[in-house]
Amino acid sequence: MQRIDRHTELASIGQCIYCRATRDLRDEHVIPFALGGQLVLADASCAACERITSAFEAKVLRGFMYRARNTGKFPTRRPKERPTTTTVTYTTRERKDGHTEPISVDPAFLHLPVLAEAGYFSGNASLGIRLRGVETLRFGPDPTAAIQRKGAEGIEQQDNWDLSSFVRMLAKIGYCWVAGGVGLPPRDEVTVLPLILGQSDDGSRWVGSARYSFEDEREGVLHALSHTAFRKNDNPAHEVLVARVKLFASSGATGYEVIVHHSGNSRVA
Ligand SMILES: [Zn+2]
Repeated sequence: MQRIDRHTELASIGQCIYCRATRDLRDEHVIPFALGGQLVLADASCAACERITSAFEAKVLRGFMYRARNTGKFPTRRPKERPTTTTVTYTTRERKDGHTEPISVDPAFLHLPVLAEAGYFSGNASLGIRLRGVETLRFGPDPTAAIQRKGAEGIEQQDNWDLSSFVRMLAKIGYCWVAGGVGLPPRDEVTVLPLILGQSDDGSRWVGSARYSFEDEREGVLHALSHTAFRKNDNPAHEVLVARVKLFASSGATGYEVIVHHSGNSRVA
């Protein structure tokens, strides 16, 4: 398992892990800086591919993860823009729709998508993203006292999910981790490259939620990563590399699996 709360530079890659260009290379954070990611692949992304990955990451980080990032005091490159209040909705007995007001002490929730098992494992070959549910993680103070003070029954927070961007971000994290930790696989054997680059809509095939726990998780590590190589019983000639990506491990998140690499034949059903 890799702790990612300390700045760690993995080996310099020397080429773009997405398109294999060797010029104009930038460093690549395995987990976005804005989520506290400190694990860096040096010289690993060209400017053009960086624009693609930054665009979908921004939709997640400034989208449904924004409140949790603020309240959880995750790093930001624009500290002056960080809001000091957030808006939550208290639900009351009288008014089913609740009412909305800004408060200065802000419990924030992160609605983390729970995905169906990756189609590669379950045999489901459908495209798109298959959603199984949602888990709610809390950041900031326990809202119970605030709810009671308001005479409310509960608290609501609405978010706009960009699921496609989120799944592409997970695929990117898994791929970066394997590229840095194991080495760069042959380009045509990387299962998630078309997904990351926006050329295919097969996220449900390679990315899914999975229940697992890391040994060191109880130490309160923020995010955790690992990878496993195995061979499928029905096709032992092919090696499969799976990255385990657990964002917000310390907040009790379930975790995701990303099938990153399938040797010998990348066009599996
Ligand atoms: Zn590139």
